[in-house]
Amino acid sequence: MRKPIIAGNWKMNNTVAEGVVLAQEISNNFYRDYTEFVDVIICPPAVDLKAVKGVLEFDKRDIYVGAQNCYFEPSGAYTGEISVKMISDAGCDFCIVGHSERREIFGETNAMINDKVRALVEYQGKKMTPILCVGESLAVRESGDYIDYVTKQAEAALAGIDIFDADQLVIAYEPIWAIGTGRTATPEQAQEVCAAIRSCLANILGGAMAEKIRVLYGGSMNEGNVDSLLEQPDIDGGLIGGASLKASSFVNLVKAAVECQK
Ligand code: PEP
Repeated sequence: MRKPIIAGNWKMNNTVAEGVVLAQEISNNFYRDYTEFVDVIICPPAVDLKAVKGVLEFDKRDIYVGAQNCYFEPSGAYTGEISVKMISDAGCDFCIVGHSERREIFGETNAMINDKVRALVEYQGKKMTPILCVGESLAVRESGDYIDYVTKQAEAALAGIDIFDADQLVIAYEPIWAIGTGRTATPEQAQEVCAAIRSCLANILGGAMAEKIRVLYGGSMNEGNVDSLLEQPDIDGGLIGGASLKASSFVNLVKAAVECQK
């Protein structure tokens, strides 16, 4: 059985002081045994990482910290970028890669995303797991070609990368038309694509590995729709934007994932 993941993507929200307050509120409302049932990840802005990690460590919460992005080169003249080593040093175990906002606003291509996934998976320090985001626009959804589009994104991101342990990769299916819009994919729509992603992983990495890799759904997940999404056989948790910015709603999503395991 795959352990679900609830991951919060704070995006470009919260100064260090605000991030510390939110992390503290999450920690205060968090029972230690939740993480027996669910892996919880908080992805704050890069400048908040160390401080947020510090709060969670001080409170002995087994909550992971993840970055929202990284660059694939190890060091050098890349103004504004941060390396895998830097995010690892700041306390991260995970890094979101290929979020649709990075693809659409910052022009990230499948080739760049492949380089980033490789840099994370092949990082020589402690394990760094990419949370690889894939998802189609409304136009692609309406064209009917969305399965082909999303599986091609996954194939391109993973091309030539040797994954030998299921914990080296998390995939998040995030239909762009559902992100920040309040328009969630129905459980059936999300399940259809998550199952197709798992078949695609089976083709690339073998069936046994594909059965173990966690595939998340993201796109307006909230306390009202989380149960029906997590009930789906190929949805192993959520990547959550808006609802991760309020401690009570984020912790309620964690609790929902705990309940669905019991
Ligand atoms: C996201 O951007 O990863 C996301 C899922 O956002 P929201 O939950 O706000 O739709």
